[in-house]
Amino acid sequence: MDAGAESAEEVVIVGAGPTGLTAALRLTQLGVPHVVLDAAATPTQTSNAALVHASTLELLAELGAADQLIEAGGKVVRIVMVDRGRVLARIGLTGVPSRHPFALSVPQSTTEQVLLRRLGTSVRRDHRVTAVREDGDGYLVTGTAGSPAGPVPFEVRARYVIGADGSNSVVRSAAGLDFPGETYPSQFVLADAELAGRPFADDEATINLSARGVTVIGRLPGGTHRIIATVDPGLDVPRAPGRAYMDALLSERGIDTRLAADPVWSSRFRVHHRVADRFRVGGVFLAGDAAHVHSPAAGQGMNTGIADAYDLSTRLAAVLNGLAAEPVLDGYETERRTAALEVLRFTDRMTKLATLRGPVARTARRIAVGTGSRIGPLRHQVTMWITGLKRSPLRSDLPLVTPRRAEPTREESR
Ligand SMILES: Cc1cc2nc3c(=O)[nH]c(=O)nc-3n(C[C@H](O)[C@H](O)[C@H](O)COP(=O)(O)OP(=O)(O)OC[C@H]3O[C@@H](n4cnc5c(N)ncnc54)[C@H](O)[C@@H]3O)c2cc1C
Repeated sequence: MDAGAESAEEVVIVGAGPTGLTAALRLTQLGVPHVVLDAAATPTQTSNAALVHASTLELLAELGAADQLIEAGGKVVRIVMVDRGRVLARIGLTGVPSRHPFALSVPQSTTEQVLLRRLGTSVRRDHRVTAVREDGDGYLVTGTAGSPAGPVPFEVRARYVIGADGSNSVVRSAAGLDFPGETYPSQFVLADAELAGRPFADDEATINLSARGVTVIGRLPGGTHRIIATVDPGLDVPRAPGRAYMDALLSERGIDTRLAADPVWSSRFRVHHRVADRFRVGGVFLAGDAAHVHSPAAGQGMNTGIADAYDLSTRLAAVLNGLAAEPVLDGYETERRTAALEVLRFTDRMTKLATLRGPVARTARRIAVGTGSRIGPLRHQVTMWITGLKRSPLRSDLPLVTPRRAEPTREESR
């Protein structure tokens, strides 16, 4: 369709990040007509969310996208907590009741590519949504689209709208929803880089505690490592930390490795923890970062968004395919806002524990982590939580939905 033209759909998905693409894939699978609009000209090119957990792999397997992703990634079977060279705890990811008992290390750009390939249909790129308003028994989504002649307005009518447009969501603002929460005082540094030597096992992610902050290191496919570290507020951090900065950071934290070259990608950022007041206003829904953002501790952001998308699009398909009544949609906010609040509380506790200051607090942390990790049931609970299996949509009471039957053609109906 030409940019600027009007169209009508059952569902409009705003945002083609991992959340929007998963929603599109599930709706396609269940035969629900929809359109995906994204402001960006291209998909994500960087590694951002680099850990895909067991529960997400189960969801992606339902969508026929897990095998390809697993082929492209590397398995992480253990998280190791280390305090200046001393191992405090080993949390195995293999003893979980899942077909995929591991986490997958894979760049977000690859995850999006796999979802896009599986989706087959195109995303309307260069389509920036600026407003969503009620229109009869549905919604009118409007914005501007890029075209060779310059930006042109577009509008799409839909019965339902999914706001999967990230943390600065326009859909959330249009629905009049607040995004209450706070920003952590610590700064975060991220670098994807080749390390000199192999200080860690390839199938482990390490969480290194120290008086200067926490440093998480895990291997990415292709031989580079992801380093993500907290840095005290007030310290100068370059916008794109280079080799010298990262080497000094590793050295002062007692981590026995150095970079082999400048990072292939690095960045500094602040982290917010916020959850939208509501995830639904009428036929407008929020999912993924548009609905909740939290600390990167335990890599939950993208995983939670993918679970939101699967839950929501299954419920929408149940209603649109005539298999359930509207109240089934209420379950989305009940299930997924509760899940988001749990994620926020857990990642908040982990972030505060990780950024504790003072020798007494750090000794207490060392003892608590060491002792806690030796208590089997507690360790199991933590693993079920980190892998997302505790709150997976596949283990909730989602309606059973069969794909919509194609309308018979005139030939078939004779
Ligand atoms: C550096 C970094 C590291 C991270 N590490 C991890 C990690 O290890 N593990 C983890 O789980 N998470 C991590 N995250 C978070 C993770 O990337 C996000 O949680 C995830 O991308 C959320 O997906 P989403 O689809 O909800 O939103 P996004 O990925 O933000 O996608 C939103 C999409 O909406 C589009 N859009 C925005 N506004 C509009 C508009 N007005 N009209 C149309 N389209 C619009 C954007 O172009 C974008 O494509 C990290 C993030 C960053 C930045």
